[in-house]
Amino acid sequence: MMNPQQFADFSTLLDHVFQHSEFYQNKFRAVGLERGDIRTPEDLQKIPFSDKGDLRNAYPLKLMSVPENQIVRIHSSSGTTGTPVIIPYTRGDIQAWAIMFERCYQMAGVTNLDRIQITPGYGLWTAGIGFQAGAERLGAMAVPMGPGNTEKQLQMMIDLKTTVLTATSSYALLLTEEVQRRGLLDKIHLRKGIIGSERWGDKMWNTIQDGLGIQLYDIYGLTEIYGPGISVSCDAKEGLHYWDDYLYFEVIDPETGANVPEGQLGELVITTLRKEGAPLLRYRTHDLTRLIPGKCPCGCAYPRHDRVLGRTDDMTKVKGVNIFPGQIDQVLKGIDGCTSEYQVVIDHADGRDHMLLRFETKQTSCLDELEALVQRTFKTRIGITVGTEALAVGSLPRSEKKSTRIIDNRFH
Ligand code: ZN
Repeated sequence: MMNPQQFADFSTLLDHVFQHSEFYQNKFRAVGLERGDIRTPEDLQKIPFSDKGDLRNAYPLKLMSVPENQIVRIHSSSGTTGTPVIIPYTRGDIQAWAIMFERCYQMAGVTNLDRIQITPGYGLWTAGIGFQAGAERLGAMAVPMGPGNTEKQLQMMIDLKTTVLTATSSYALLLTEEVQRRGLLDKIHLRKGIIGSERWGDKMWNTIQDGLGIQLYDIYGLTEIYGPGISVSCDAKEGLHYWDDYLYFEVIDPETGANVPEGQLGELVITTLRKEGAPLLRYRTHDLTRLIPGKCPCGCAYPRHDRVLGRTDDMTKVKGVNIFPGQIDQVLKGIDGCTSEYQVVIDHADGRDHMLLRFETKQTSCLDELEALVQRTFKTRIGITVGTEALAVGSLPRSEKKSTRIIDNRFH
């Protein structure tokens, strides 16, 4: 439930939205919702969810909720499936985002003496420029590399003695493998890594952390809600702290839309409390996580959510059982000999689903036993029998962008 300060900010935002957001005026009219219907924190439940589909329909600029002379920038989320989503930002939004991002760096112990190598992309994406704005606000030295060009990344890392790496998990893994392969560990000066934008398991975390000899922090965010930097993990590694003076988080059952109890897994839904250019109310992120009850051992008072276990869209039903990629990570991480890299191939033949789990291992012998062990563990933990295939490290595709690990051939 919103606290009094959150509800006060939300009420101000709602006044604004009812008067100036054509997007929400239409949405509210469709369900017959009036401003007077929202008077208490409980009334939040009356507000219909917003979804990425709604935002696509608002293309290009129908989300704009202030006069155009107040918009200073737009960002766009990936248009991998159809129309992209465009989010307009005011100067205030840019500043709010930088404040949140600066807090993320501070949570990770980054200071104005650090040199931050920024490898996420710049441009329409929110990634690179968000890391940059936070670094500049903190007073650290930003090294704006952008993605790719591993050769140059490593050279700058060595020559500039960068101390903080910011990257997607798959690119951090690729850099880790390159540093090791070339024996550069004693030439680099990294001490921290701030890694985000993808779901990544503990095994991948440990591979990067140990491989580079650095402390890692998980950062979360999405373009629709400012961008990365709306939450970050701390030294206690018990979830991510989010900035509840800017954002209100709910977790719902993705099937029914009802709030689930604190601590229970579900879909993260975010309401912006102070966003100006394109406020969003009850936005469904499709990210699977849970709110963590109680105070964090690190002492920080900002509330926490768990690491993102997967996407509700990634929920794959195989043989009638819901499977999330995060569960597969957990199966593999519990088994000696398995790495964090895997791929799942699902087919349908003879009236039945067939699932093959291909995973990488450093082991070169006893692969049959390892395959059998993974199969047994999968059956125990997730409840279905799958085929398993052990592969040498490096066999599966690496990507500088989001990895596609589940190949579902059933509907093609
Ligand atoms: Zn903490």
